[in-house]
Amino acid sequence: MSGEVTRRAFLFGIIGAAAAGWVWMRDRSSTADVSAGSTTTIPPAPTNTIIAATITTTAPPTVAPGATSSTTSTILTPVSVEALCRDAWGAKAASGPFTAHTIERMTVHHTGRPLRRNSDAPRAIRIHQTFHQVDRGWPDVAYHFIIDLEGNVYECRPTGAVGDTGTNYDPTGHFLVCCEGNFNQQELSAAQREALVDVLAWASTEFGVGPETIAGHRDVAATTCPGDNIHSLVESGELVAAVRERKTSGGVQLEVLCGDAALDRVRDIESA
Ligand SMILES: [Zn+2]
Repeated sequence: MSGEVTRRAFLFGIIGAAAAGWVWMRDRSSTADVSAGSTTTIPPAPTNTIIAATITTTAPPTVAPGATSSTTSTILTPVSVEALCRDAWGAKAASGPFTAHTIERMTVHHTGRPLRRNSDAPRAIRIHQTFHQVDRGWPDVAYHFIIDLEGNVYECRPTGAVGDTGTNYDPTGHFLVCCEGNFNQQELSAAQREALVDVLAWASTEFGVGPETIAGHRDVAATTCPGDNIHSLVESGELVAAVRERKTSGGVQLEVLCGDAALDRVRDIESA
């Protein structure tokens, strides 16, 4: 997309850095490149800590690119995304220390595990966390956010903490977003794709990293992740273009939803 119009940015904040324990997905990987228990700068939060990561917009609505007068301007409203907090989906606390990093790029993953019914998504994410903590020996689920088949977003590892991988690349500096499912075998639904664009657009603004940094896991390591049906969107430039468009059409406001409202949301997902 051509130059992004100067706009007042929305201040989003994720504060997920508090919660600790995480889950993690099973990429079809092989070797861990980040070992748990290395330098620690982000202490895990105590169990049951409520992470109220809410970023509120303090800037007024932005005006559409090209609008030159008050009579023709269009008020742009940010897309609102509510990520389900760790407590809501039943995450365990982090099992070890994290390593701090500064996000410099964004990388898309899939869990690699086919998911047929979205009602199984919260349970699948709990399984990923257990697999990552117990089998992999990582402090938490590997990713920063996971998106289910219907576009629900789950808060995972704090964004200020380096993720983990079983493949041969160093995830330091990578914002890791993961789509639940195996996209060598299944298609990305419209809802899941929209949520992926939302999360990437939010992260792009939040961490000051350009959409052009978006890559698929297979672009940086030997793996088929994030699956052909997601990677084709990366390769064609469609995903980057969609993220740019989302940013210039109002941006994304993301907040982490906790408490009863989040628990109700997860119950609805599981009983659907
Ligand atoms: Zn991956």
